[in-house]
Amino acid sequence: MKKTGQCPKCNSSEIYFNKGKQIGTRAGINVNFWGGFYIDVFICSECGYIEEYMKEEHMNEGRMDKVKKHWHKYSKYAQQ
Ligand SMILES: [Zn+2]
Repeated sequence: MKKTGQCPKCNSSEIYFNKGKQIGTRAGINVNFWGGFYIDVFICSECGYIEEYMKEEHMNEGRMDKVKKHWHKYSKYAQQ
């Protein structure tokens, strides 16, 4: 959605973007107690599908290292 401007589920181009504005408490994610990041949210107004990305200016090595350190790598669990 972010790259194509189109919904991957219903192919609609009626995509709305929060432009970094906070929506309740959901526009931020805490990695752990001492660090977090804000997220960009893309919503398809046709089917309600939501796509989220870490805000680009928050995407740096330090934050990604925290995610890698404190979160579980998904593929490890998907294979079980
Ligand atoms: Zn859609």
